[in-house]
Amino acid sequence: MIAHVLRPGPVHLLRLATGDDVYQEITRYVTDSGIRVATVNALGAVRRASLRYYDQSAKRYEDLVIDEPLEVVAAVGNVSLLDGAPFLHLHAAFSAEDGRGFGGHVNDGTIVFALEVHIAQLDGEPPVRLPDDCTGLTLWG
Ligand code: ZN
Repeated sequence: MIAHVLRPGPVHLLRLATGDDVYQEITRYVTDSGIRVATVNALGAVRRASLRYYDQSAKRYEDLVIDEPLEVVAAVGNVSLLDGAPFLHLHAAFSAEDGRGFGGHVNDGTIVFALEVHIAQLDGEPPVRLPDDCTGLTLWG
């Protein structure tokens, strides 16, 4: 296990605009605001979801698009550094009109209907993502 101890910093509350790309817009905000480490959560609704599922055996992502209006039941994520830049890692659970549930790693192409985002910035040395041979992922070093 690896632990990083940080202190609470400013909290940013955002309302994304209809039509925004969830992943790109939050990434743009944290980059423009100089946020290097944070926790993120969000709720609302999207017009479509573009998700990824990590195949642990093949060590690669499988892409999945749910092309219908969905509630964002909960989104949770964090910001840390990858290759010297802020990197958003975001997962979300969604529900459809009939209550079906979907979820996964949020990718480019998830389009906002209405979304409230809570970014809790942290003060201290940001974790840095490094390649991990065991999982094939970039994980906190
Ligand atoms: Zn993920």
